[in-house]
Amino acid sequence: MSPAPDWLKDKKSRLERKNAFDGALVYGTAKFNRETGRGNAAKNPFQEYVDPDTGMIRPDLVRPRSCPVCGEPPGPGLFIKGGFRHVRCPSCGLIYVSLILREDVMLRYWRDELAWMSVLNSGPQEELDRLKFAYGLDAAGAWLEGRAPGKLLDMGAGNGTFVRTANSMGWKATALEINTECAEAMLNEGFQVIVKPLELSDLPHGSFDLVTFWEVLEHLAEPRLALSRVAPLFNEGGVLLVMVPNAGSLVTRILHEKSNTFGGHSHLNHFDAGSLARLLESLGYQILEMETLLTELGAINNHLDFQDPYLGEAASFASDLTPELIHDRMWGSRLFVIARRKPGA
Ligand SMILES: [Zn+2]
Repeated sequence: MSPAPDWLKDKKSRLERKNAFDGALVYGTAKFNRETGRGNAAKNPFQEYVDPDTGMIRPDLVRPRSCPVCGEPPGPGLFIKGGFRHVRCPSCGLIYVSLILREDVMLRYWRDELAWMSVLNSGPQEELDRLKFAYGLDAAGAWLEGRAPGKLLDMGAGNGTFVRTANSMGWKATALEINTECAEAMLNEGFQVIVKPLELSDLPHGSFDLVTFWEVLEHLAEPRLALSRVAPLFNEGGVLLVMVPNAGSLVTRILHEKSNTFGGHSHLNHFDAGSLARLLESLGYQILEMETLLTELGAINNHLDFQDPYLGEAASFASDLTPELIHDRMWGSRLFVIARRKPGA
């Protein structure tokens, strides 16, 4: 295997690279939220279907489900947000939404959704995303034994910033995206795009060095199915890259339902390090590395200062609460994993 680049082995340079795409650190939380329009995008588009008396989403729009990691029936409810009940699995600890939107309602929502596209296309978001994606590609590439940059498949490619970044670094990227406008924009740029669910595509087995799920698994009713469907697509030694919101993050543990990460129409699964590892390992993936990205330090400080978490301007509450400490404890707001199929799995 080719030696990992110096920045990957050196903790300090790795932290410096992570901090360079952390919106809370680069712009400050309030400025970053204002300039990307994240607050508006986090509003519940299904609010009109929430019964004001019960606070619950209209029952004909939703369906039940059991824990998507271990299959156990839902445990006690934690809270209701946006009309959706968030529960915790008594067996594996996953926080997830049940009931969730019916499959056809969800599919229509994702085909036409535009609110997040405008966040992704905003200048500050795009700039930081490019750095984040380059970081992920370098980290994954270090495990590819000299075959990077190679062929990759990006699941749920969104507005195409990742594919654009990857191709500029020499990768040959294929995007899978069902959102009509996102897919059209990528096709117009000449990218290779599959505009249908993976099970309906005919991608050749054994053809990818890297498969990426950037903030996708939290949106899927059946994340297990998606991860098992991509399994045959890896070539020998190919690696999987996953980023998801971290339910074990400090910001989530402090803010609970006030955290923008909770919104039951779209974020259905809230993994922590344990439940994500359990899911991947049960499907025959071996975790090569797991770390956290993005601190959300501003939201933490704002909340501790009784201000709006996302729009407050609080000074640091405790000077020893640093990005280094947050990532050392796996308290960052995203989990980042590189994994590989175990031989014979
Ligand atoms: Zn479970």
